Amino acid sequence: MIEKTVVELASALSTGSVSSVELTRAFIDRITTIDTQLNAYITVDEQEALKQAKEADEARARGAHSPFLGVPIAHKDLFCTQGTKTTCGSKMLQNFVSPYDATVVARLKDSGAVTLGKTNCDEFAMGSSNENSFFGPAYNPWGKNRVPGGSSGGSASAVAADLCAIATGTDTGGSIRQPASFCGVTGLKPTYGRVSRWGMVAYASSLDVGGPLAKTAHDAAVMLNAIAGHDPKDSTSVAVSTEDYTQSLDAPLTNLRIGLPRQYFSQDLDPRVAAIIQETARNLENLGATLVDIDLEKSTLSLPAYYVIAPAEASTNLSRYDGVRYGYRCEDPLDLEDMYTRSRTEGFGNEVKRRIMIGTYALSAGYYDAYYKKAQRIRRLIKQDFSKAFENVDAILSPTSPFTAFELGAKKDPVSMYLEDIYTLGVNLAGIPGISIPAGFINGLPIGAQLVASDFREGLLLNIAHQYQQNSDWHKQKPSMPMGV
Ligand code: GLN
Repeated sequence: MIEKTVVELASALSTGSVSSVELTRAFIDRITTIDTQLNAYITVDEQEALKQAKEADEARARGAHSPFLGVPIAHKDLFCTQGTKTTCGSKMLQNFVSPYDATVVARLKDSGAVTLGKTNCDEFAMGSSNENSFFGPAYNPWGKNRVPGGSSGGSASAVAADLCAIATGTDTGGSIRQPASFCGVTGLKPTYGRVSRWGMVAYASSLDVGGPLAKTAHDAAVMLNAIAGHDPKDSTSVAVSTEDYTQSLDAPLTNLRIGLPRQYFSQDLDPRVAAIIQETARNLENLGATLVDIDLEKSTLSLPAYYVIAPAEASTNLSRYDGVRYGYRCEDPLDLEDMYTRSRTEGFGNEVKRRIMIGTYALSAGYYDAYYKKAQRIRRLIKQDFSKAFENVDAILSPTSPFTAFELGAKKDPVSMYLEDIYTLGVNLAGIPGISIPAGFINGLPIGAQLVASDFREGLLLNIAHQYQQNSDWHKQKPSMPMGV
């Protein structure tokens, strides 16, 4: 039962062939035996999960219905959960318990979901491998000693290994799509502002967005239905009306134009990755789509622009962790200055400190115009590049990541890690939606295809992804547990 999709579980629960308590128990048993290998969870709240499951069963007995009623899910540990720790993968928030639920969490609860626990992630979502977590790395179920990707690595690993039915993640520069690619699951990054950021701990406020890591595009649509929509508590959430994202899943792909950016298929791309994405393109063509070569001329500028803007925003967002209001406080401070300095020195990990330093530098007087303002101008050009492309095509297809999951410790210098995100960063800078779907394997490791569309066309992305999944079975492959080679 635990290997089933949300849609299948919802139907099993509604016919009474399983209860939420039984299902929740089964997931907890699986977590207890398997998660010692994966470290996908930072916190599992067994009692709370079973209590919620019991309430869901009782509600159902009283005649209640909702898409997630009794379905066990997990949240990236960047979403605030009332009564359960929210650590952000950091020593700084090791013991932090939020007094409120994030809007995403509250909406899923309202939809009946049972929260199993909080998943591992890179500290404050900074990273591409989950190796930056204070709680130790999460592992990829597809290969021994392989990273699950990051920063939502725990969520991707948990979904792939059936440690939850579906999970939330956050995506600032690729953190939903890249781990989805590495772990062979479906990951959707919605349009910026489509999903409320309230209670989602901020990394880079103009880029962050929450979304699902799921077994199928259909499940991702079901979760998006629950979490999308305007939230008066988040001034950057948009008042554009939502749709029922399951409605368009079955639309045929005829008349769709799908662009293949020349710049993404350059000489440097691993030919095995290129071949898989070309094959995906041909499959979409067989389903009725028309393939078009396009240009995204500014795409090489995404990486430098992102690594100015994201650290700049992070440096201001993370200034709130000062040892005074909440989070870690050093022992026996000599004075206020010493408390600030040591609390931050001891509470943050190396990558977070690196980002704070880069960001503070880029924002400092005298450098602001040279770095931050320039990066913002480049951001506009990248957005224009995409807008121009969408005059001719409905969606853009590319690899999600240039590689499959690498071994822990393989990427020693930060810049080689930053290169992980070359295909995903531009999408965040432009604020548009993107999805990663399982598209094949290289040496037994999954590889994802990324589809991107213009603002608020999540419905189209889910439609293409669903049609592809109706005609392929990459997303149905399961890693062998305990982990193989
Ligand atoms: N890997 C990118 C970074 O480290 C993106 C992370 C994210 O999307 N949260 O910033």
